[in-house]
Amino acid sequence: MKTSIATVSISGDFPEKLAAIAAAGFDGIEIFENDFLAFDGRPAEVGQMVRDQGMEIFLFQPFRDFEGMPEPQRARAFDRAERKFELMNELGTDLVLICSNVSPLSLGGIDRAADDFAELGELAAKHDVRVGYEALAWGRHINDHRDAWEIVRRANHPNVGLILDSFHTLARKIDVNSIRSIPADKIFFVQLADAPLIDMDLLYWSRHFRNMPGEGDLPVVDFMRAVASTGYAGTLSLEIFNDQFRGGSPKAISVDGHRSLTYLMDRVKRLEPEVRMDVPHMPDRIEVSGVEFVEFTADESDAADIGGLLQTLGFARSGAHKSKDVTLWRQGDINILINTEDEGFAHSSYLVHGTGVCDIGLRVEDAAATVARARALGGVPFSQAIGPGELEIPAIRGVGGGIMHFIDKKTELANIWEIDFEVDPAPEPVNPVGLTRLDHLAQTMNYEELLTWLLFYTSIFKTEKAPMVDMVDPGGLIRSQVIENEEGSLRFSLNGAQSTKTLAGHFISERFGSAVQHLAFATNDMFATAEALEKNGFKPLSISPNYYDDLDARFALDEPLLDRLKQHNILYDRDANGEFFQLYSPNYGEGFFFEIVERREGYAGYGAANAQFRLAAQKRLLSMSSQAHL
Ligand code: MG
Ligand code: MG
Repeated sequence: MKTSIATVSISGDFPEKLAAIAAAGFDGIEIFENDFLAFDGRPAEVGQMVRDQGMEIFLFQPFRDFEGMPEPQRARAFDRAERKFELMNELGTDLVLICSNVSPLSLGGIDRAADDFAELGELAAKHDVRVGYEALAWGRHINDHRDAWEIVRRANHPNVGLILDSFHTLARKIDVNSIRSIPADKIFFVQLADAPLIDMDLLYWSRHFRNMPGEGDLPVVDFMRAVASTGYAGTLSLEIFNDQFRGGSPKAISVDGHRSLTYLMDRVKRLEPEVRMDVPHMPDRIEVSGVEFVEFTADESDAADIGGLLQTLGFARSGAHKSKDVTLWRQGDINILINTEDEGFAHSSYLVHGTGVCDIGLRVEDAAATVARARALGGVPFSQAIGPGELEIPAIRGVGGGIMHFIDKKTELANIWEIDFEVDPAPEPVNPVGLTRLDHLAQTMNYEELLTWLLFYTSIFKTEKAPMVDMVDPGGLIRSQVIENEEGSLRFSLNGAQSTKTLAGHFISERFGSAVQHLAFATNDMFATAEALEKNGFKPLSISPNYYDDLDARFALDEPLLDRLKQHNILYDRDANGEFFQLYSPNYGEGFFFEIVERREGYAGYGAANAQFRLAAQKRLLSMSSQAHL
């Protein structure tokens, strides 16, 4: 199947758009008339520019307000169509999209519209072009693909066919299975878009909030399964109107678009094995069973600070890399690495972003398969020099300039700690605090990049996204999107900052880009952990007494429990399954922090209701520390 994207989907001038689209691997484009209106070249030159990039123009659009017009508008519509057909000949494309009429002048009637299309089909044939009819969700008389199909069927002309657009069908909740009975040769073109579920005017929703398949909440996979079941093997084209995308990087948005189409086709191929779906072969979405390690890059002095902090959190310095300046810190099932090398990836990350997390190691079923899937989806493999006898650990570049490594149990990778590290069998004495594993990891990025991260993770790994929540920071909103796997062994929280006045925004602007902002460790006994931490000299983030008044009002907790929570600065939440306890460290540097959580009886959330209290406390601390010039 050929892949295409509408030029309106991305930002930039026309040559920039073409270069970005071609580089992302698309076979061609849908061209919008506005593209030439803004561009100086003749249609023939525009066509040549596209072909010079090795691409085709699959579709010209839009042609509006055609069918069902009274005279004299009807005759004018045919004149207008003829001029467009001539332009298409010059441009070198043979298909035009005619969207259903929205004019108050238009007259209804399936047969009237069918007659108009039959006549237009004759005119199109003379110019050697084809016309495709699309039902806009807000069309005046036709707003349902089933009615558009009936018009095309009655027009009964070889140059007249149907154009399906997932947004228009799904936004009106039209049963996608009605597509299965349309003959494939009458489906001239298929447009794909997703969107977040927002209850608003359809036209406004469509023009501003569409996003790539997989980024929103619409059942685009079901739509595509129905299309594929007809035998349609033509072009799949992204038609995405989105305000952020139009202001974003043409390169990044094009890469996301190609990834979303590949991912969609891969899903459909697995769900409808009998349909023809030309998509590169790749392993299925990868199961992750946990985080094997988190690696910090730091200079010597920061490394000593982080080490001290980890010790307070109950970690033991448990070893070092055989050939690199990397130390291993352990507690329970958690491995933290601190890298102070003065070359290699960690060092270059340090030079650009300063101290922070530069690498995440995931435990997967098959590390090589993980890289293969990531590659098929446009991911970039990563490797760097290793010492003699050391493991070549499969890795890819993440979205925000970080690296992800993959460890599996089926190869030598299972012995990473024995092979690459000198592990201390009896690490120096420490006071463990009962941390068992990494519960979740939070990454912060500019809001515009959030969907890129989301698509990256959900297309490669077997994960689902939780509903997006808004967190209120005193400096503005932070949009938070959790992705997690079914068993909860992989939980990433993606936080999109809209303003640098928020803690998250401050953090990424000081770090020059997106990064891991907090690590949350799990304990099985929050109060025992809190007491052990205090003995180690740990000072938790101090929570306002108002929070506990509010908590009491919300949950009517027992007095002794409330007192204990307050005494240890522990936050509390409850859902239908169970209870949740949270404890935070202060911020380090420009806003990095640790969290400790206890989930009881399958509590599934992240304490979203507590976020504003936590953020307010962190902001107070940040303004104090910046005054003290820390
Ligand atoms: Mg459309
Ligand atoms: Mg958290």
